[in-house]
Amino acid sequence: MNSHYRVVVIGGGVVGASVLYHLAKLGWTDVCLIERSVLTAGSSWHAAGGIHALNADPNMAALQAYTIDLLSQIEAESGQNIGLHMTGGLTMAGTPDRWEWLQSAYRVFQSIGIEDCRLVTPEEACALNPIMSPDGLLGGMWADREGYVDTTGTVHAYAVAARKRGAQYFEHTRVEALNQTAEGWEVVTDKGTIRCEHVVNAAGLWAKQVGRMAGVELPVSPLKHHYLISDTIPALEKLDFEVPMTVDLEGFTYLRQDQKGVLLGIYEIDHEHWAMDGAPWDYGMELFQEQTDRIEHELVCGFERYPALQEVGVKTWVNGAFTFSPDGNPLVGPVPGKRGYWTACAVMAGFLQGGGVGKTLAEWMIHGEPEADAWCMDVARYGDFAQNKRYIRETTGQFYSRRFVMTYPNEQLPAGRPLKMAPAHDAMSQAGCKWGVSWDLEVPLYFAPRGFEETPTLKRSNAHEIVAEECRAIREGVGLLDITGFSRYEVSGPNAQVWLDRLMASKLPAPGRARLAPMLGETGRLKGDLTVLNWGDGTWWIMGSYYLRQWHMRWFDDHMIDGVTVRDLGEEVCGFGLAGPKSQAVIEKLAEQDISGLGFMGCGDFDIGLVRARVARMSVTGEKGYEINCRMGDHVALRRMLLEAGASEGIREVGFNALLSTRLEKSFGIWSREFTQGYTPGMTGMDRWIDWSKDFVGKEAALAERDGNGPAQVQVTLEIDATDADASGYEPVWSAGDKVGFVTSGGYGHYIGKSLAMALVNRDKATPGTELTVHVVGAERPARVIAPSPYDPDGKAMRG
Ligand SMILES: Cc1cc2nc3c(=O)[nH]c(=O)nc-3n(C[C@H](O)[C@H](O)[C@H](O)COP(=O)(O)OP(=O)(O)OC[C@H]3O[C@@H](n4cnc5c(N)ncnc54)[C@H](O)[C@@H]3O)c2cc1C
Repeated sequence: MNSHYRVVVIGGGVVGASVLYHLAKLGWTDVCLIERSVLTAGSSWHAAGGIHALNADPNMAALQAYTIDLLSQIEAESGQNIGLHMTGGLTMAGTPDRWEWLQSAYRVFQSIGIEDCRLVTPEEACALNPIMSPDGLLGGMWADREGYVDTTGTVHAYAVAARKRGAQYFEHTRVEALNQTAEGWEVVTDKGTIRCEHVVNAAGLWAKQVGRMAGVELPVSPLKHHYLISDTIPALEKLDFEVPMTVDLEGFTYLRQDQKGVLLGIYEIDHEHWAMDGAPWDYGMELFQEQTDRIEHELVCGFERYPALQEVGVKTWVNGAFTFSPDGNPLVGPVPGKRGYWTACAVMAGFLQGGGVGKTLAEWMIHGEPEADAWCMDVARYGDFAQNKRYIRETTGQFYSRRFVMTYPNEQLPAGRPLKMAPAHDAMSQAGCKWGVSWDLEVPLYFAPRGFEETPTLKRSNAHEIVAEECRAIREGVGLLDITGFSRYEVSGPNAQVWLDRLMASKLPAPGRARLAPMLGETGRLKGDLTVLNWGDGTWWIMGSYYLRQWHMRWFDDHMIDGVTVRDLGEEVCGFGLAGPKSQAVIEKLAEQDISGLGFMGCGDFDIGLVRARVARMSVTGEKGYEINCRMGDHVALRRMLLEAGASEGIREVGFNALLSTRLEKSFGIWSREFTQGYTPGMTGMDRWIDWSKDFVGKEAALAERDGNGPAQVQVTLEIDATDADASGYEPVWSAGDKVGFVTSGGYGHYIGKSLAMALVNRDKATPGTELTVHVVGAERPARVIAPSPYDPDGKAMRG
């Protein structure tokens, strides 16, 4: 063991070994891995080793596809047998809604390039897996590249392949402390101290403690998980093939062949956390006693789905622990505020996702940015609120228990809620507000009559008409929206303008003005769809999506220069938006100063009733509107005054569902849908805001796109002939049977009465009038490209 390395990876499970391998593969060979016991000695040794191509989150599915491709490569490189059995896999649906969902998921997989899957009937599925009973099954999906690996062999293959490329690993060495230094980190182990530039927390079941060693509180917890291995099943002995990896969603089980028996794994409804503060240091390669009472229901489902299990005994029970984050995705990347401290933990399915996690992290460390959009696993997708133990317990537990439970897109899940509430929350609830959640915050979805309950569905819900009325209020009268759920950062200091000018790719607004401002990474891909406001007194605001607060602050901090202060105002400032042709009439009644001269995209300080407010004349709805920002403590009074002043204008409280419908009618993109860090300005139309005459982060790459052949796909607006359901995202777009793009977001344009979508399509299919088709909840629907902004294309309403 040397006294200095460029990188020290802590933890020799499948994830740490993959990180080590990818660092070496990408050229950083002055790297080592430290393992407390032997390689695999955490969750990895007793995993079921299952690999599935399918994941409801398209970005995670892409990560899994990469890992599956990699497995045979590391086997060849290392010479270590990984026991790969590519049996193919089945995912079975047992309710009409689930079957509909599976058909729609199948189309989404086509969109993201997973082509080797197909839908099957229960009969076909039972021919593929003859020990499965078809009772209650409605259909399934087959995927070619699913199966299982030998877990110990796989971890060793990553580690040996890494060593062959120049990396080192050391077993029986425990990291006991981490001290930050000017150059990086001092890693104190029981075998001596190592100095390094970067440390990677890949400590699996111990990730919590290895976080705390650096003062980092990670939102992660282990949970227990069972599988059983059966005795030999005579029916399997007779087969000349292995049965496929099979997931019975309604039965909460997964199954694969294990020699001539099967391994049946269970996602436990009655979940059990273990060692929430991290596994004990002396935890060896042990298992817990099986708890069959706790999993009785799921076991019964499993034994009914595979009746052969009723005839044979259980050879082995495994009850082991593995780790989860609140949304079940890994925690990967640089930890905000801890230079040189990286995480690669909370990886729920390390054999399936570990390859992709290792690649992503290594690219991030070496190139400054991963190749693919890593938001879904970025450690910065959570804020400090997620450090709370009860929050972690409730959210990880909810994810685990619902792993195979169907979640509808309009369903609101209860874990970790309500947490942060805007001050007017209770008064809005009294007025009928139905709430969703963004990050830690309750956000209004719509206002319903007393006693109304929304039915979970994949299609248009019973809230459709309510949202339609709210949209009408916005387009014809005036709507009032709680905008606490926007982010606001204050930029000040002598170099504020210089800093903003370099970070934002657009021109900066003049004093008293606001401007849309794309922000790019060095690779020219998007980092933000922001609005910059120049208050004219030396302070500037950046406004954006609320749930990106930690992520954007990390970016701002990483690009900080002297003479600039950036403050996240998310705990201090909230507000209300007025939107609609009558919004000016309402605000004029309350403004102490003349606000009639505040033009479109103007901003300034005003006294609105009793409230000192920072007001900007803009609205995401595409109507004339005002965003009125106030102190948290003024929120209740501001709402009351606006409602009183607006009563004679017929003001109506509205929620974000109406905002989303109205913004679609304007073809206004939003982050995570039309804009992601996987897309470029040219693809998304963001290039029209770029000021090419100045210098800015990402300019070289953006110029290369502008002056090169241009993007292969561009953003368009589609009108879809849908009847009872609308597109939501990632559905494939077809032209005469050829896949030519995919939907980025969709919904119903209530005011214009059309089903709409925004989509990225091949450039030659982007002309208005082009006839296409789109799969909506599994059914193919005619669609056509229309000119952007089907409502008020000239923007007269918002400028008026
Ligand atoms: C019953 C069961 C079935 C599963 N089935 C599957 C499956 O079918 N497919 C799948 O993909 N996944 C499955 N998993 C999940 C899988 O096991 C985990 O996702 C994976 O093992 C996580 O790997 P890891 O490297 O993050 O963590 P771990 O395997 O926990 O490795 C962490 C390592 O870090 C070491 N370490 C910790 N702290 C220190 C320190 N201070 N100093 C030095 N070393 C340290 C530990 O000793 C350990 O070896 C299953 C898990 C269980 C429990």
